[in-house]
Amino acid sequence: MNALCHYFAFLSLCQYNLALVAYATSIGEYLQHNNHNMFITEKIISIFAPHTCILCDTEGLVLCGWCSQEAFYSVPPRCYRCRAASAESATCKKCRSGSVLSNVWVFTEYGGVSREVLRRLKFGRAQAAAQDIARALDDVVPFLAPDTVITHVPTATSRVRMRGYDQSRLIAKEFARLRSLPYRSLLLRIGQARQVGSTRVERARQVDGAFRLLRRIPEKVLLIDDVVTTGATIESAAKLLKTHGAKKVHAAVFAQKQ
Ligand SMILES: [Zn+2]
Ligand SMILES: [Zn+2]
Repeated sequence: MNALCHYFAFLSLCQYNLALVAYATSIGEYLQHNNHNMFITEKIISIFAPHTCILCDTEGLVLCGWCSQEAFYSVPPRCYRCRAASAESATCKKCRSGSVLSNVWVFTEYGGVSREVLRRLKFGRAQAAAQDIARALDDVVPFLAPDTVITHVPTATSRVRMRGYDQSRLIAKEFARLRSLPYRSLLLRIGQARQVGSTRVERARQVDGAFRLLRRIPEKVLLIDDVVTTGATIESAAKLLKTHGAKKVHAAVFAQKQ
C-alpha cells in the first residue's frame, strides 16, 4: 500500500513537471511572438527543460565539453575561395582580385554536427548555440588588433522577423565579449530574397546592393557569419565597408558549405 502511494505521488510529480515544461514553453513562445528579449525566453525554458548535448544527451550544453573535442572536422588554414592551403587563412594571390577580404577563418565544414548546432541556433536554443559557435571561432581566429570592431553579416530581414532575432548577431556579440573587443552593428540588410543560384556569379548578382550602412565605418572590421557558401554575401558586405572607410576587413565563419 505504501509503495502504491509512493508510485502515485511519483506519477503526479511527473505530471506536474510536464505541465511546468509546457507552461514555460508557452510563456517562451508568447514572449518570442511579442519580440521580447529572447535570452529571457530561453532562460525561462531552460529552467524546466535543460539543454542536452547533441551527441550524448548529457544535460547542460548544446554540445558537452567531452563531445565538442571530437565533434567537428576542423578546417586547416586555407584560402576560403579556392581552398588551397594558405597561411593564416589569407585569401590567396590567385583569388585576391575577386575578393576584398584579407583573411577568412573557417571553423569547420558544413554537415553532421555543425548542421545540427546551426539548426538549434536558428530554431531552438539560440543563446547556448551562439555561445558554442563563438567559442569555436575564438579557437581559429588569431590575435586581433585592439581597435578591431566586430560586426555581423545581417540575415535577410524576413527571416529575422520570423525568428525574432538574427543568429549571426548573437554569435558576433558573444565573440566580441570573449575577446573584449567592441561589437557594433554596422550593416542593414535590405534584400529579402533567399539565395537560390549556385554559381558565384549568380549569387553575387543577387546580393549586389543588399546592404546599407548604419553608421561611420571603423578602419578594422571583423565580419562574422554562421555559414558561407560561395562567399557572395560576405564579399558584398565587405565591399561596402571598404568603399566607406574600412582599411582591413577580415571574416570569421562557423561552417563552409561545399
Ligand atoms: Zn556530449
Ligand atoms: Zn584562393
